[in-house]
Amino acid sequence: LAVRFTGIFPASVVSGITAEFKFLGLEHFDEKEGSHVWVEDPDIAWIDGQVINVKGDEVEVQISDEKTVVANISKVYPKDEDTPDGGVDDMTKLSYLHEPGVLHNLARRYQLNKIYTYSGGILIAINPFQRLPDLYDAHMMEQYKGAPLGKLNPHVFAIADVAFRAMRYEGKSNSILVSGESGAGKTETTKMLMQYLAYLGGRNGAEGRTVEQQVLESNPVLEAFGNAKTVRNNNSSRFGKFVELQFDKHGRISGAAIRTYLLERSRVCQISDPERNYHCFYLLCAAPQEEIEKYKLGHPNTFHYLNQSNCYELVGVSDAHDYLATRKAMDVVGISQNEQDAIFRVVAAILHLGNVTFTKGEDIDSSVLENDVSKFHLQTAAELLMCDPNALEDALLRRVMVTPEEVIKRSLDPDGALVSRDGLAKTIYSRLFDWLVDKINFTIGQDPNSKSLIGVLDIYGFESFKTNSFEQFCINFTNEKLQQHFNQHVFKTEQEEYIKEEIDWSYIEFVDNQDVLDLIEKKPGGIIALLDEACMFPKSTHETFSEKLYQTFKNHKRFIKPKLARTDFTISHYAGEVQYQSDQFLDKNKDYVVAEHQDLLTASQCPFVAALFPPLPEETTKSSNKSSKFSSIGSRFKQQLQQLMETLNSTEPHYIRCVKPNNHFQPTIFENASIMQQLRCGGVLEAIRISCSGYPTHKTFSEFLHRFGLLAPEILEENNDEMVACKKIVDKLGLAGAQIGKTKLFLRSGQMADLDSQRAVK
Ligand code: ATP
Ligand code: MG
Repeated sequence: LAVRFTGIFPASVVSGITAEFKFLGLEHFDEKEGSHVWVEDPDIAWIDGQVINVKGDEVEVQISDEKTVVANISKVYPKDEDTPDGGVDDMTKLSYLHEPGVLHNLARRYQLNKIYTYSGGILIAINPFQRLPDLYDAHMMEQYKGAPLGKLNPHVFAIADVAFRAMRYEGKSNSILVSGESGAGKTETTKMLMQYLAYLGGRNGAEGRTVEQQVLESNPVLEAFGNAKTVRNNNSSRFGKFVELQFDKHGRISGAAIRTYLLERSRVCQISDPERNYHCFYLLCAAPQEEIEKYKLGHPNTFHYLNQSNCYELVGVSDAHDYLATRKAMDVVGISQNEQDAIFRVVAAILHLGNVTFTKGEDIDSSVLENDVSKFHLQTAAELLMCDPNALEDALLRRVMVTPEEVIKRSLDPDGALVSRDGLAKTIYSRLFDWLVDKINFTIGQDPNSKSLIGVLDIYGFESFKTNSFEQFCINFTNEKLQQHFNQHVFKTEQEEYIKEEIDWSYIEFVDNQDVLDLIEKKPGGIIALLDEACMFPKSTHETFSEKLYQTFKNHKRFIKPKLARTDFTISHYAGEVQYQSDQFLDKNKDYVVAEHQDLLTASQCPFVAALFPPLPEETTKSSNKSSKFSSIGSRFKQQLQQLMETLNSTEPHYIRCVKPNNHFQPTIFENASIMQQLRCGGVLEAIRISCSGYPTHKTFSEFLHRFGLLAPEILEENNDEMVACKKIVDKLGLAGAQIGKTKLFLRSGQMADLDSQRAVK
């Protein structure tokens, strides 16, 4: 085979490449008979074989003793027979960089339990679905401390170490962005990162509740209330999280802030088999007997909010144990016994509330409690929430309508009452979750003097299901934002830098997703803005909303009206098309607490509950103008994201892409097609290409001299201009391909690691 992957590609090869990954273009493939190749396979994505015949564009490949396939030459890629058996720890070291090569390398490593692989600037982490011995122990931490990146095996610790050193010695804020689909291992990875950062920035031997202990113990608390079993992950985070670790001038963790995003509220009232509700409900049902009696609890299957699914227990998890562990963790993060009691009282109240059912009342369109069981649960819920049971009943069954003429009490029919009940449960739960986050932040405390921080982002990956609603819309919007950040970082900054520094560089095109972002968030006129508009207009339905979308975006490249659908719409995301069902968008976007619910809980005799519902400021309650009351989840989320992006933009980012190797939660199974798709969605393939064909390392002349001057002390002594000195060192060390820009030196892939190891032996 003729071509090895060296040097920069001519523009003819790289231009026009978009999301597709093919940089060994046809013109480079010398398809000799007998050569080893990869050829596309419908089942396993790629299969290897040997070319036995070439006719024009058709290549015949022997893939097993009996079987040959004929493929178009564009679907045939050269296979490297020389890479070591264990694969290479950085994709940029592959001789041939193409999809099958990348995939094969990961597969080989995964078989050997090497779950981490670098890929240019990204760390790929494949979920092992088993505890790998020693991989995260104290000895391992010790080894990674201060080790130059690339010296040891790829590891999350190595990434955290780079971030820590940049923070510590260069005073730069850093962020580590962990992404991947549900079950890929983001949360586990995040916990490992935080553990390592706590190890580096902790107070050795310090007694009591240190900041870093509190940060670590916030995890089990938030997981108890924000994680649930789903079909994709037994411990799925149903919220996004950004943890900002603040450091003092000695490099010790001095404060932290946790920001969470968009907790899935609907789960509180609605689950489907074999999923579960939030862990805390099951934990409480497994609490010591005394508490069970106090809260009048029973088996989870006696509660409507839990028995919609047949799954109550998790393999390998003891809810009774976790209940106690959660309370211990709550101690550490400063939640008092009283507060803990109140929290679980509220959790129990939600379960009882879910068992209150309704039936038709005497008046038309009215409803009453269905039976004595309902009455019991209503009574218990009211006791636990410490509010008046009659007021609770009223708040569930009736609404006050204020018209210009009069104030009318209107009854709700049984369906309306159910919606009212579930709304109340969801509101209480989400306020409770927010309270926990606030409390943890308050306990840990912020360090106002901290100059630099390390942020760790654990956020939901791109989602595309059979039915996709408002949640998927927001999640995918997040991913578009992060993808843009990633693009900008990897692609734009790279190219802009080359241009600015006037070095020789052939352009690479990439898919810019600004148009999708405009479609979603542009103000006015984007989907979120149109949704808000629809929500404020009382007569809107999801039909009118969809119609408005169809009209507004009929010529938008990223918006598609699906053929047979009347109220669905499709967005062409960077990671693929997603068809959204608009029917619940309006409801889910409305973020208001029914006034009756608000008043009921504000009046609770329990200070904890009352504090979850502080009275609204005067003008919003008095105002008859609906729109001023209106607050939208979509817009608020958009704002939160904007803030997050601003924070991220002020940091040096590091990316970890988690990959889920199979859907069976099993170790060793490596499913090619889905992994390939995940690498594509994560931008991994694109980034490899850029990183490899360009200059992954940029150093200012002085940075370079400072770091590597000792490799050529005689040149330093010559008192040259910095640029000249750099040039001489580059020549002396024989750094082939390195380029001198106007203010910086640009190194090829691998050169930095070489230099570092030379420096290490000096
Ligand atoms: P979600 O988006 O649903 O929250 P996630 O990406 O956060 O998913 P995790 O909860 O981190 O996924 O991982 C799912 C499961 O995979 C874990 O509960 C654990 O069993 C296993 N797992 C993930 N990473 C590792 C690891 N490094 N070592 C061992 N097991 C792991
Ligand atoms: Mg998670």
